Amino acid sequence: RDADLPYRMTVDAICQALDTDIEQGLSKEEAARRLEEYGPNEVESAEMASWWEILLKQFLDPLIYILFAAAVIALLFGDYIDSSVIMAVLIINGGIGFFQEWRARKAILSLAELTAPQARVVRGGTEGDISSTELVPGDVVLLRSGDQVPADLRLSSARELTADESALTGESVPVSKQTAPLEEEHLVAGDQVNMAFSTTVITRGRGRAVVVRTGSETELGQIASAMRDVVDTRAPIQLKVRTLSHWIGASIAAMAVLVGVVGWLQARALDEVVSMIIAMAVAAIPEALPIVLTVTLAVGVQRMADRNAITRSLPAVETLGSTTVIGSDKTGTLTLNEMTVKSIWAGRRLFDVPGSGYDVQGGIEFDGAPADLQDETALRAVLLAGLLANEAQEIPTADKKEGDPTELALLVSAEKGGLSVDDTRRRYPLLDTIPFESERQFMAALVDNPDDGRVIYLKGSPEAIVDRCQQELTTDGIDTLDSEAALEMARELASRGYRVLAMARGPWESKTLGEEMSPENQDQDFVFLGLQAMEDPLRPETREAVDQARSAGIRVLMLTGDHIETAQAIGEQLGLGSQEQNAVEGRNVHELDEEEFTRVVSEIDIYARVAPEHKLRIVEALKADDQIVAVTGDGVNDAPALRAAHLGIAMGQEGTDVAREASDMILSDDNFASIAAAIEEGRVAFNNIRKVTYFLLSTGVGLVLTILLALFAGWPLPFVAVQVLWINLVTKGLQDVALAFEPGEPGLLDLPPRPVDEGVFHRPVLIRMLGLGVFLALGTITIFWGAMELTGDLVLSQSIAMTQMVVFQFFHVANCRSLHRSILQVPPFSNRALFAAVSAAFLAHIAILYIPALQFLFQTAPLTLEHWGIIFAVGFSVILVAEIDKLFLRRRGFGPGLAKTSTLGHEDRSRRPLEG
Ligand code: ADP
Ligand code: MG
Repeated sequence: RDADLPYRMTVDAICQALDTDIEQGLSKEEAARRLEEYGPNEVESAEMASWWEILLKQFLDPLIYILFAAAVIALLFGDYIDSSVIMAVLIINGGIGFFQEWRARKAILSLAELTAPQARVVRGGTEGDISSTELVPGDVVLLRSGDQVPADLRLSSARELTADESALTGESVPVSKQTAPLEEEHLVAGDQVNMAFSTTVITRGRGRAVVVRTGSETELGQIASAMRDVVDTRAPIQLKVRTLSHWIGASIAAMAVLVGVVGWLQARALDEVVSMIIAMAVAAIPEALPIVLTVTLAVGVQRMADRNAITRSLPAVETLGSTTVIGSDKTGTLTLNEMTVKSIWAGRRLFDVPGSGYDVQGGIEFDGAPADLQDETALRAVLLAGLLANEAQEIPTADKKEGDPTELALLVSAEKGGLSVDDTRRRYPLLDTIPFESERQFMAALVDNPDDGRVIYLKGSPEAIVDRCQQELTTDGIDTLDSEAALEMARELASRGYRVLAMARGPWESKTLGEEMSPENQDQDFVFLGLQAMEDPLRPETREAVDQARSAGIRVLMLTGDHIETAQAIGEQLGLGSQEQNAVEGRNVHELDEEEFTRVVSEIDIYARVAPEHKLRIVEALKADDQIVAVTGDGVNDAPALRAAHLGIAMGQEGTDVAREASDMILSDDNFASIAAAIEEGRVAFNNIRKVTYFLLSTGVGLVLTILLALFAGWPLPFVAVQVLWINLVTKGLQDVALAFEPGEPGLLDLPPRPVDEGVFHRPVLIRMLGLGVFLALGTITIFWGAMELTGDLVLSQSIAMTQMVVFQFFHVANCRSLHRSILQVPPFSNRALFAAVSAAFLAHIAILYIPALQFLFQTAPLTLEHWGIIFAVGFSVILVAEIDKLFLRRRGFGPGLAKTSTLGHEDRSRRPLEG
């Protein structure tokens, strides 16, 4: 039996057993058939909460226990109506909570699917990307560094292939892979070095393999699931508000006891007092707060997704609102990553390459005249090196563009010079390659050259290549290399904003590149051929987005693997790095001690030749400086920096699976502008949380105070218990949730980032909440008193007081749509959910006033038109009060969310001067 294990078999035998072909792969039809047979390649997550767990969760909260206790007490006192209304409140609250959380969860899961790993397969002889879930046994897949292994695979080729299998074996040292069958029996997964296992990560190299097991048959599937449940992480703000609401709940409970004692001392009817207390506590307890918070954050997630920023967790939404620094990649994020070679330095002469994009028309010119490859041997050699040391498949067309843009540009320049990609590749068969990896900065290809035997071509950063060369190819043959001149030319081209690649070649004896070309071994004697300089235009939106981020008090850093001059030139176009010394190279700052390093990082905006470990250090230094750091990354080795940052941002298109796994947010369009958009939405979400909390708590304060006032004045109570519960239901049940959908306000991006330690309730909001609460109470109690004086009819007066409270809140919720803007500045119908909620609540309220059965249940009497007139007039006054307060605060420089628009302290944080 053991002989059947894939690691003991040859690849041929495996392919035979699986009825597939290692070159051609499965046919599309066969793959579809097998998908039917084996099912999708996925592992059911055991951790995924089921619907009933989410439902149950809604009721596991101290506030809910209080409410439940209240219902039970009411029942014991024989208040069946109150008891059932409280139960109804509990059920409705739980229901809304469940529904909203279920929706949020589904939305986030479907977002997660959008960014699910892809696998590169060969089917019917052609390469293409498919969703990993569609893989079937027998599929042939290609692996490259940064990929997450999509299934259990038997390797047929492995070039410098290493995998991090810690997810499976716990072993953190990457395993070097090979292809030969293994003799031993009973090997554990970690020792099956000719296999690659699902969800492990390729850290280096390239490989080809055949799928042997998918889905729950894989090693990982066997040991249950490691899939992370993305939804269950809570934002710090949620935890904070939860604690806050528990405190509020506890103090309300305490107050209820106090009211009970007072009522008892006043010798009121015991059951009346008890049911009143219960009702008050129920109404004032902010049990909806946690739910509303989840909804607000979930709305934020959705809005960010609509703007191409896919957040993987709710906490990210909060972090985005406080971000103070963004460290961004250059290539592809700030720029388009559409390279076009513009200049070529060969044989100590500089050639122009007209044309743009990947269009192969245009030719190559010297001094305005077309260059002929027959005469220009050095030019020909440079183009040849660029074409052969190249992993891109083919020249991109309008509808098919695959491969590294840097390499595509080199195919295009070769074609422009007259070297056909296909013919050339046929003439110089490829024997071996060392793929490009960022930290190595070059790649190598070994080809069979019909004229000179085996030749190795190098292409990479000028520094890396010049280091390996002692001679150069000139128009008159081979000469000693003037490395100064070559590097000077590279700098010159880079200072125009071009990305510069150097080419070299050397003879080679052995058939593989192997050990001798390892990064440690640098003393190879290569011949320098020349440089190709390519343009990578800025994305059209970048400039504006960078400006926007800056005016929002956010510092933008550029972190790039590119040449320092290139980085500076691009930085200049963006207005980055206005200081004298505005750019540094990663390795230069890496040597500095902590203190020096932190100082550099607080001053310099542009980091060139940045290796992943430098990126990590920059992130850590910024964090030590109390910044809230968002950082982008796409490579395998960016994962530590992405994890270390408060907000790791990965690329949806160019990024690797590893980077995506390590990130909190994914940009589906790789665009810097989407980060700025997400930050704006993060601020909108926080602003809305503040509005909702303010609304909920100010109405709660109003209600409690009204009852307390009546009680201490020795009056009859303005509402009966069931009416308090009703007020609670029509206002909290609907309108608070609707406030979560409030659109963003202008000016949010002119504010400094919100300090992380600033809670929902900072002083202006707190004062206003209490002030407005008092006003609502005074208004209601006055109306109640007036009604009693005039009519002497308690039932009618209570109906009037209750209606007053409800109408107050209709107006007040309009106040809460903006914390600083006048109600006249907020478009009245821009929040349709709110409009609908208020309308529904109003109709429901009319119903309980006029429908006889409900009149009986809620002990109401119908109001006349005159009553309504007075109630609306008084209700409207809450708008006037709020307007005065808003005006006052606006004058004092408070902006959206009642943040100070001109808080100097914050601006200093983002751009701190050198000393002191
Ligand atoms: P970036 O952050 O600009 O994407 P990279 O780490 O990808 O930087 O690249 C670093 C340097 O390596 C580049 O400036 C270039 O000189 C060289 N380089 C980039 N891509 C390739 C490639 N495909 N082959 C060879 N060299 C490359
Ligand atoms: Mg790159």
